[in-house]
Amino acid sequence: MPQRLPLPVLPGGHAAYEKKEKCAVFGVWGTSHPARVSYLGLYAQQHRGQESAGIAVTDGRRLEGQTGMGLVAEVFTPDSLAKLESKGSKAAIGHCRYSTAGGSLSCNAQPLLESYIGGQVAVAHNGNLINAEALRIRFEEAGHLFHTTSDTEVIIHLLASPAQQKAIDPLAETLRHLQGAFSLVFLFNDRIEACRDPWGWRPLVIGQLEDGGYVVASETVALDVVGATLIREVEPGEIVRIDDTGLTSRTFAPPAQRMAYCVFEHVYFANPASMIFGQNVQATRERLGERLAAEAPVKADFVVPMPDSGRSAALGYARASGLPYREAIVPNRYVGRTFIKPTQDQRNAAVRLKLNVIADLVRGRSLVIVDDSIVRGTTTRAKMNQLKAAGAKEIHLRISCPPIRHPCYFGVDFAERTQLVANTRNVEQIREFLGVDSLHYLSLEGLLACMDRKGSDYCTACYSGEYRLDPEHPVTESVIEPAQLRIFG
Ligand code: SF4
Repeated sequence: MPQRLPLPVLPGGHAAYEKKEKCAVFGVWGTSHPARVSYLGLYAQQHRGQESAGIAVTDGRRLEGQTGMGLVAEVFTPDSLAKLESKGSKAAIGHCRYSTAGGSLSCNAQPLLESYIGGQVAVAHNGNLINAEALRIRFEEAGHLFHTTSDTEVIIHLLASPAQQKAIDPLAETLRHLQGAFSLVFLFNDRIEACRDPWGWRPLVIGQLEDGGYVVASETVALDVVGATLIREVEPGEIVRIDDTGLTSRTFAPPAQRMAYCVFEHVYFANPASMIFGQNVQATRERLGERLAAEAPVKADFVVPMPDSGRSAALGYARASGLPYREAIVPNRYVGRTFIKPTQDQRNAAVRLKLNVIADLVRGRSLVIVDDSIVRGTTTRAKMNQLKAAGAKEIHLRISCPPIRHPCYFGVDFAERTQLVANTRNVEQIREFLGVDSLHYLSLEGLLACMDRKGSDYCTACYSGEYRLDPEHPVTESVIEPAQLRIFG
């Protein structure tokens, strides 16, 4: 029986961020510098994962890859990118990761690159599978050896299994066994395949370069950076194949009966410049702020954004309330990502280092502070203490989403359930804990009213506890009915 790799505990984290997302994916086919294009595409999506980065390339005969721990700019050099392209590569995929499943280990850096009966394959994954552990146990009992602790590796084992290889479409058959969130980009020697789960949890878009090459990315901001024009989203349940003949599409499953677009992409994660699920993030966040002002007005001297993620909602709040907008908290942009915070004292010090309060502005003033969300609450409390220490007369905290009471199993690394400040406290108890004069969260109804699609199309489980899939009872058999082949052209 093979030894199971232990699933390690994640170390520390970022100075001012308590929530992390796994991850960003990128792919490009039909350009002469695919590694360099991928580098830019990943750089543009660095906000989705800062733990590791990787690029795999093909020259049409062989796949090669480079992965490493750290930021995209730390992992790659001009020389290493040139080396990746030295054999005349024509396609690449890339990934930047923030672990939610599998832990912070270099072996988990993606793209994962493997050889199997069908040749070589590299895969990059955004999302989280809820049946990965169950699938892995089944494979290990059958003698499979795993090289990583990542949930993504089971996808390769599925693809390589005889049952899938005998299928007419091995990749489609593989995807039908997966439960949870997956926006996947596969690189084979002759093609890229971009796939999205039937629930649509994570974004995935296709674009076209001026020279005719095609690009796939988690966010449209990556298309903008590499000079590609948005074609469309990869549809839930769809596989888009990109090769020398262009784009073709097939479905491996019909879209889910209840979609699950992650509403938190709009609240916090995505770049404001991106179009997520067809809707601009900046405009959405401003709308959230406007709605928040309507739901929770207050008399104050001015509106102060909590940088950086509260800015857009604060703009909306100020506009709707008629209160002046003032930047009274200045972020220190040079606090690096390597600032680990194993203890609460260190976390508090990190907050003071990361955010500087302009005492002259806040002294003796009543402030509306707008932030996007509260997770553990410890960081927010430290920020409120800073404002009080600087002499703020009143602090009215406004949050542009509902209280986060439940963990996410679909690709966002919140704290454990017991560490969520709203898990066991009501809003008044949270207000007391944070030491502010008033606290209001945007209602779930208000949040969904700001989305372009109908409310029932969004996953809101971290607020409502209503999970589309039961994370406690994952299924390992093929759970999705084969879809009819559908050609988009
Ligand atoms: S639980 Fe929350 S963070 Fe996770 S996918 Fe659903 S909305 Fe997004």
